Formats: sequence, structure tokens, C-alpha cells
Amino acid sequence: MATDTESGSPPASAEAPRVIVHADMDAFYAAVEQLDDPALRGRPVLVGGRGPRSVVATASYEARPFGVGSAMPMAVALRRVPDAVVVPPRFDRYKAISRGVMGVFAEFAPEVESLSLDEAFLDATETAARFDGPADLGRRLKAAVREVTGGLSVSVGISATKFVAKVASDFHKPDGLTIVPPDEARRFLAPLPVSRLWGAGPKTAARIEALGLRTIGQVAHADDATLAPLGRMGPHFRQLARGIDPRAVISHREPKSIGWERTLESDIRGRAAIEPLLVAAADAVADRLGRARRLAGGVRVKLKDSEFQIATRQCALPQPVDDAGPLLAAARRLLDQFDLGRAYRLVGLTGYDLVAADEPVQLPLFPWH
Ligand SMILES: [Mg+2]
Repeated sequence: MATDTESGSPPASAEAPRVIVHADMDAFYAAVEQLDDPALRGRPVLVGGRGPRSVVATASYEARPFGVGSAMPMAVALRRVPDAVVVPPRFDRYKAISRGVMGVFAEFAPEVESLSLDEAFLDATETAARFDGPADLGRRLKAAVREVTGGLSVSVGISATKFVAKVASDFHKPDGLTIVPPDEARRFLAPLPVSRLWGAGPKTAARIEALGLRTIGQVAHADDATLAPLGRMGPHFRQLARGIDPRAVISHREPKSIGWERTLESDIRGRAAIEPLLVAAADAVADRLGRARRLAGGVRVKLKDSEFQIATRQCALPQPVDDAGPLLAAARRLLDQFDLGRAYRLVGLTGYDLVAADEPVQLPLFPWH
């Protein structure tokens, strides 16, 4: 199937930078509590238990200037901020809001790798051309999150690698938007302390500093002999320090099938009544296959009759597809195998046996500057 990009755009280059977004909700649990209870707004809030071994899950920004943060014993936090309000966590509520936030992320990028309830990487390389550059992408993403949550802020970093995007999202928290064009990544990283290197915990950071390397820029310039005491970690950190990070954004759940179905307000009967729904279903499934960059190797049709009996018929396709045409053709043939004299109240179509669409992806032009 011809696409717009094949006719107009120059061929994709393997060198074209990716567009990676790291989005991190600001003080998420505490912000949700302040959203739900206006009396908590503007006050230091510590989400966590009150027991002797309890720790702070999240501190609101009002509490942070006192040196209070996540994983600190609650007793210590309360000594530092005696007038803080302690709120027990409500994970069901956080999960519900998180679902909305992740749904927004999925509208902006086909690949979303969630790291926790409040944090995700997005690979927006393919969708970037929808936006007028990274600032526009970031502003729209932030506005959409604020909208879906009823007022919560998210900090966003955008660059060409996961590492730089993650550092960038933390750069102007809260409510930040930091864009690091790929050709500025090294300069952006250079002054930062080595503790910001991804994967360098306090012990590793201390080992790097013991080599006389205090900034990421110094690691970027370090020679093999200097880095030798770090073993294989040395070259790895040097690559990161140079803004080189080939790790891909990987959605955790690869769909096994993609389906569409509709329950009808009144029962329908006969091929002429069912086929228009299959047309809509084939279009919807093809669209979702395309966005997921998957091809379906088989088609399944599902009909539920007025007695709630479900019947399914399926067949393999001659070759995996993401086009509505072959999906619909197969579904129409499958209809022959149903009792079309019955009254049906639900029609569904599913593409299954999904495989990755491995044709080269056309990378759209994205004005970084
Ligand atoms: Mg967060």
C-alpha cells in the first residue's frame, strides 16, 4: 500500500535522530492528595504510613525545601517538617489516574515504556511530524496530562536518547520542559556530576570520582587507561557521557491480538446487516495494527446471538497484513460459516498471530532547532 511519506519525503536515514520523551509526574502521590483535598494545597504533605518503620513514599514540593524526600523514615521527615500533613497512600486512586496519564502518552507515541505509575519513556520518532518541533510536542503533552488529570503537572524531557531525555525531565522540576537537541547533548551533560550517569549509584559514583572524574564531561574525555579500574562499566559510562545511548523504548506488553467489537442496541440478522460492521471493524483493526507496527497473520470473527451464545470462526491469512482490505475479505468469507439466520447482538473482528512490521520506518523531518 502506498503511503504519503513514500512519495514526498527523502529516504529515511539510519543516522536520523530519534525523538525520545521522558515524562515524570511531579510529586505524584502527594500531588494527587492535594488535587483531591483542596485543604492540602500549599501545605507540606507527606504520603506514607505513621508506623515506627514507615517511610515517606512522596513528599509534596512544600516539604522538599526542608530536606525531605522519598524513602526517608517518616519519623525523620516529621522532625524536619513538624507541621507536615501525613496522608496514607491510596494506591487504587493513583493507579486510576495513572491509567489516564498513560492513555495520554499512548496518544503521543506508538511506543510507551512505563517505568512506574508516574513515569514513562515515549518514542515519538514517528509521531513527531505531527508537531511543530519538540517545544510544541512537550507543551501539548503537558497540557493533555493536566487536562486528563484535572490539574496535575508533569515534567518532560525531550532528546534523541533515553539517558539524555531522563536527565532533561529532571532539569527544571516541577512542571518542567527541557529540550536537548541531539547535537547539544554532550554540552548539556558535560557540567553535571557523575552521579547523574544512568546506572551509577552512590557507590559507583564514588568509584568514578576516585579516578579524578567529577563531571560527566570529564568522563566523556577520559582515556581507556583512566577508566580501566571500572572494567566494562568504564566504556559504557563514557558512551553515555558522550550522549550515546542506543537503548530503545520498549513497550512492556506486546499485544497478542488486536480486536474491535460492538454491542448493538438492537439485534441484527443477515449478511447485509452484519457486513457494514465488519467494514468498520476491519478499518479500526487495520488502523491499530498500523500504529502498533504489527501485521496480523490471521482473522477471527465473533458473533454473539440474542441468547448471549458466542460463536467464533477464524482463518489464517496467506500473508500477514495490516490493510483493511484483506482483513475484510477474510472476514466476509468467514461469515459463510455462521448461521446467518440467527439474531445477533454483537459483532467483532480480531487480527491475531501478530508479527512485527519490519519494513523500514520513514523517519519524518523534525525541526529540532
Ligand atoms: Mg515522578
